[in-house]
Amino acid sequence: MKNVAPKLNQKEYEKNFSEIQPPLSHNAAIAEANRCLYCFDSPCMKACPTHIDIATFIKKIATGNLLGSAKTIFESNWIALTCAKACPVDVLCEGACVYNEKEEPPIQIGRLQRYAIDRYFERGMPPLFTPAPKNGKSVGIIGSGPAGLACAAELALMGYDVTIYEAMKKPGGLDTWGIAPYKMTQQDSLNEVKLVESFGVKIKTGVRVGEDIPIKSLSENHDAVFIGVGLRKPSWLNIPGEDLTGVVDALDFIERVTTRKWRSVDVGRRVAVIGAGNTAIDAATEAKRLGAEEVIIIYRRSRKEMPAYDYEYYLAQNDGVRFYFQTSPKRIIGKKHVEALECVRMKLGKPDAEGRRKPEPVPKSGFKIPVDMVIKSVGQNIEETFLAQISGLKIKNGRVLVNEETYQTTNPMFFAGGDCINGGKEVVNAAYDGKRAAYGIDRLLLGSG
Ligand code: SF4
Repeated sequence: MKNVAPKLNQKEYEKNFSEIQPPLSHNAAIAEANRCLYCFDSPCMKACPTHIDIATFIKKIATGNLLGSAKTIFESNWIALTCAKACPVDVLCEGACVYNEKEEPPIQIGRLQRYAIDRYFERGMPPLFTPAPKNGKSVGIIGSGPAGLACAAELALMGYDVTIYEAMKKPGGLDTWGIAPYKMTQQDSLNEVKLVESFGVKIKTGVRVGEDIPIKSLSENHDAVFIGVGLRKPSWLNIPGEDLTGVVDALDFIERVTTRKWRSVDVGRRVAVIGAGNTAIDAATEAKRLGAEEVIIIYRRSRKEMPAYDYEYYLAQNDGVRFYFQTSPKRIIGKKHVEALECVRMKLGKPDAEGRRKPEPVPKSGFKIPVDMVIKSVGQNIEETFLAQISGLKIKNGRVLVNEETYQTTNPMFFAGGDCINGGKEVVNAAYDGKRAAYGIDRLLLGSG
């Protein structure tokens, strides 16, 4: 990159990347837990994709039974710490809390969940669950992200011999290297991995299935296989200049910020982020917190249609990120390095067959923005070349097809869950898929359920 933003000092980095949502103190947690009305129909529980018994775990915090509280949470969700810190709680559990109807602040469910799970890990993970005796069956899991870990935990407790194959050097998937450090730390994710390992699950890191070991060896060595590979292949903008130095993929950029020393991560003085999902917002705020002087988000539709949650939008705005709505990139300009981005204004066209108005360019509205770095965040795709090695596996619209009840794919030995079947949702959805797929696998191998 040509115009790298000046480096900050360590204290500034630490301040910029410190947690934006600090933990609750003991007294604050007890007071908040006592505000809960323990509603008999718990709308918060229904709104949680993993259906954690929220009223019960909060009640246990209020009575000082913190291990019992952690147990209640884990019974529904093995990825509970990540979910407590990275879930969009305002549109899920907290958004459904009855206090919203009274126009009073909802119960801080995410922070209470974090309180219980933090204490559990601080106490060195005392055993809360005992795996059943080995049942003689073996399951291979591809990917150690939230779906793979949840599936592994559930199967190990049922008595299965479980091995996870992870391509990266560290386990945990996106939770380990794809979440902004001011939301959660790598150690949080690694603690969840440790919990799953404590049930006897083996994790082989640095092993890329399909390259380092053939798919065939998994089907030969295991009775069933779960695919929890997420989405990793970045989408292209398909505009000139994408190969210039200074053009990076958002997830690669976030991975650098999460895994390297902040000082060693270069960021441009002026950065354009293409796309307006939650990943784009993370990349934009991280660029700003690394020292970029100007960060803009380019999005072809309006604020109303932007996929990022309101909370993320306001976070970016508070960091000084500017938004260019109804703007589309046409060309990245530069000889070797990025020098500018050529854009065009967009307007909403006539409704299509489904009644959705498609954005179309406004004639003669082109303009250039001088930038040193372009971060692409227009979605991730499934690794089709790897999945094509599994005979009979069907992929439709970039998603692995599964039976909605059992999570079995069109190859009966293979099951799948998480982003590779839903096109990219929340961690909590992946955690739920993994757990449900474990029941599907158990039904196939032992006829349970
Ligand atoms: Fe407690 Fe709110 Fe859930 Fe009712 S809806 S049980 S008040 S957290």
